[in-house]
Amino acid sequence: MSEAMMNTYARADLAFERGEGSYLFGTDGRRYLDFTAGIAVTSCGHAHPHLVKALQDQAAKLWHTSNLFRIPAGERLAERLVAASFADKVFFCNSGVEAFEGAAKLARRYQNVTGSPQRWKIITVTGSFHGRSMAAISAAGNPKYLEGFGPRVPGYETVAFRNTNELRAAIDDETAAILVEPIQGEGGIRPAELDYLRELRTICDEFGLVLVFDEIQCGMGRTGKLFACEWAGIAPDVMMLAKGLGGGFPIGAVLANDKTAVGFTPGVHGTTFGGNPLAMAVGNAVLDVILAEGFLDRVQEVAGHLRSRLEAIAGRHPEQIEEVRGAGLMLGLKAARPNAELIGALREAGLLTVGAAENVIRLLPPLTLSSGEADEACAIIEKVCASA
Ligand code: PLP
Repeated sequence: MSEAMMNTYARADLAFERGEGSYLFGTDGRRYLDFTAGIAVTSCGHAHPHLVKALQDQAAKLWHTSNLFRIPAGERLAERLVAASFADKVFFCNSGVEAFEGAAKLARRYQNVTGSPQRWKIITVTGSFHGRSMAAISAAGNPKYLEGFGPRVPGYETVAFRNTNELRAAIDDETAAILVEPIQGEGGIRPAELDYLRELRTICDEFGLVLVFDEIQCGMGRTGKLFACEWAGIAPDVMMLAKGLGGGFPIGAVLANDKTAVGFTPGVHGTTFGGNPLAMAVGNAVLDVILAEGFLDRVQEVAGHLRSRLEAIAGRHPEQIEEVRGAGLMLGLKAARPNAELIGALREAGLLTVGAAENVIRLLPPLTLSSGEADEACAIIEKVCASA
């Protein structure tokens, strides 16, 4: 590994030269089944022909003009996201953490311009992860992200996940918003109960707070509905998106209802690259795939098949896997021994997975996964469990 690389990742000594659908082809000459999807990013699989064409066509025409001018593909993507969601307005940026910053700023500024400037605190929950900016690591529900970077940016307070009593007790006159992942990803694939999400909506309405959902990892079809909160039948005021929305092209988005979006007016927030023509072309192509008739039903079907097979494997190998958790194609195997060992053995056997907190192995395949590919992954998992 190159000494020139900043020492921020404990990378596997493995590189890839190309990808196709659910597979990655290593420079070691081997083919790997990719259940990382670049950490829930390559929602349509690698090198999806529709996405490749959208990017190539756009790259030949225009890359960047900035937000000084209209960007028609961005307007189209915003309108399509609005039509498919609770939202009335969309702000585009380039990554998940930028969506966090945009959402947190919008929540505060909404309170500011609607007569409650004293409301500036944002409540988050234990186990949460929202990115790596100074504010995001201050908001995170795991102090490890802040280690060595303190002092903490003020204005963020953490309460226990899935505990509305503690949440209610933490709300005061300075509280502006509640910000939660409907299914925690980095935190170990921990889904919120649907009733908890509904209660969050009720609490925010009761106290005049902005409800922000971070669907950066669990959104964009990963659970078999476009957004994970749809399973609870409720909508936030603001939603953060990134990862799967770009299918591998860097993108982020802040979605908001009209009520809250009044917080942003020209000049108060911005980005040079956000909403650039390349990202917008690919984002539209991703929506073509994910919103195609029957696509999300198929995600649910394949996910159901994968999950029942995984539960059977866990039942046969309790000494390796304690629990299968998650929803749709956002699944976690709680390992009974150090997850890094199993992740390494699975990689050796040709299946790429991602670690998470609570000793969990994340399975985040592309949403285009076939049931045959799910079976192939299960055969590898079974083999590794049996031989480990
Ligand atoms: N929020 C959630 C739920 C995430 O999973 C992540 C990334 O893993 C982020 C925010 C940060 O996204 P990014 O790494 O694109 O800044």
